[in-house]
Amino acid sequence: MKNLICPHCKEIVRKKKDDLICHKCNKIYSVKEGIHYFNNTVIDYPKELDENDHDVFFKKLSSDLNSGLDYLYKQNRFLHRYYTDSNRANGLFLLPTLKYKKILDVGCGSGIISHFLTKHAEEVYGIDICPNRLRFINIIKEKENIRNLILIGADIFSLPFPDNTFDLIILNGVLEWVGCAHRLEGPRDLQKEGLKNILGKLKKGGKLYLGIENRYGINYILGGKDHNNSRFSSLLPRALANSFNKLTNKKNYDTYTYSMKETNILLEESGFKKIMFYAAIPSYRFPYYIHPLDNDKDMKCIISKMLKENKDILPFHLKFLCKIALLLCRMKASKVIRFLVPSFIIIADK
Ligand SMILES: [Zn+2]
Repeated sequence: MKNLICPHCKEIVRKKKDDLICHKCNKIYSVKEGIHYFNNTVIDYPKELDENDHDVFFKKLSSDLNSGLDYLYKQNRFLHRYYTDSNRANGLFLLPTLKYKKILDVGCGSGIISHFLTKHAEEVYGIDICPNRLRFINIIKEKENIRNLILIGADIFSLPFPDNTFDLIILNGVLEWVGCAHRLEGPRDLQKEGLKNILGKLKKGGKLYLGIENRYGINYILGGKDHNNSRFSSLLPRALANSFNKLTNKKNYDTYTYSMKETNILLEESGFKKIMFYAAIPSYRFPYYIHPLDNDKDMKCIISKMLKENKDILPFHLKFLCKIALLLCRMKASKVIRFLVPSFIIIADK
């Protein structure tokens, strides 16, 4: 790991024993289990597994991957899928070429995308603010002897890298959470600041891969819960959503998602160019169908195929979306579909 910088004053940090130190502002970035932490905020998701179960899981995983994953399956199936379903990386085929020098995966989570990208890059940097996520990837990395994956505790506001470093930056399922950083600026301003930070770290011509929900997605229209654990809030004007959430959830509404048009404006304001939108179905998390949203031509064919192949497993809201979409195609109004797709994968250039 060379040339990491102090996110506070941009000076290159030096090694001091195991820690890293900034000689300009004297900040020390400590190391834990081989991972350096640059972020002030650390989060864990206690509802997933308590600390004791996590320790058992990691111990089992370290001695044998399969017995560790079996243990996790019994404890929490959702988390097991999150850590193991490689469909998470399905959208990466949209990238024009899979040959990169340096890639950054912001909020690398389960590490599935980072892991996949290590085969296509000289170095992949995976950052996250959840130590347990990093511990998990670190065990897989050691087990599989992956040498070009560097794990760091950092967030979008504390990126310890010099400007113009990366050819590709991944932001998958992260931007909607950026507004939760408890600061005075509103969620949109924080998201814009985060995106500008990302832009700065990209080389000229570098690519951003962004996965995020559609604010007006059919799942939300039909009453699905959003990231604020709230129904219908994403559809409301922000001030109303905020009052509603303070009343019902006792918290601000700060997990902003956007329509295609609004997302495009946010990215343009943050300095991105050549912004391409794709519908990710059922979502960007584990996308099975990905379709460009500037091309309505093959839409009908893809939707019919999706309905036919998945008749028994598609959830109600997606079947409903497919039927509306087919109707719209017949009415030659397929452009409307882009307002209703559950989520987007977006590729943009610096
Ligand atoms: Zn410093």
